[in-house]
Amino acid sequence: MIIAIDGPAGSGKSTIAKLIAEDLGLVYLDTGAMYRLVTLKALNDGILGNLDKIIKMLDNLNIDIKENGFYLDEIDVSEEIRKPIVSENVSDIAAIREVREKMVDLQRKFSESKNVILDGRDIGTVVFPNADLKIFLVADARERAKRRYRELIQKGENVEIEEIYENILKRDKIDSTRKESPLKKAKDAVEVDTTSKSIEEVKNEILRMVNSNI
Ligand code: C5P
Repeated sequence: MIIAIDGPAGSGKSTIAKLIAEDLGLVYLDTGAMYRLVTLKALNDGILGNLDKIIKMLDNLNIDIKENGFYLDEIDVSEEIRKPIVSENVSDIAAIREVREKMVDLQRKFSESKNVILDGRDIGTVVFPNADLKIFLVADARERAKRRYRELIQKGENVEIEEIYENILKRDKIDSTRKESPLKKAKDAVEVDTTSKSIEEVKNEILRMVNSNI
């Protein structure tokens, strides 16, 4: 079984996908984290903005997704990839065709012969157009910024809500207008607006869809 959850930043994709994975015993893949790993590598190597070097770097890219975290060059960078500096640059990296080709390939390999739930921007449209269930989560941008703000403050980050709001709008724009696999709802995806819904409500709504789909 393959469940695809797409939508803009902060719409609740990863929170919901994790809960559904637990409930149904599926493997969860956070594809946004993969683009964040590539971005962190480019930042560490000081090659942001250098397309040729970024494409070359992909040949020796050493990323790993384990149950307990995200690894870059064998080091657990799960915390680092959520930092604002990565969020500020990830959409530019994710717009590069060669980066996307490599990530999509890895996502398909990872999912082979598994029951999976993946979240991202292009899962239902490009990665798994034949997914068993496609959900498109949306929420008001102010609400999404509030959610991200609370998450980062809880982690002890020193952030301003306005900056997060601006970053979310900027990423929405880059992600939905890029040439390669833009963020968009697949024709057969079910849209769920999470703005004024609790996590529990959204989870149950999706579980009902899964059950009626089986
Ligand atoms: O989901 P998250 O906000 O961590 O994703 C970070 C960024 O990675 C997104 O803003 C988008 O640019 C990119 N992304 C993507 N395709 C995916 C998942 C994420 O382009 N499937």
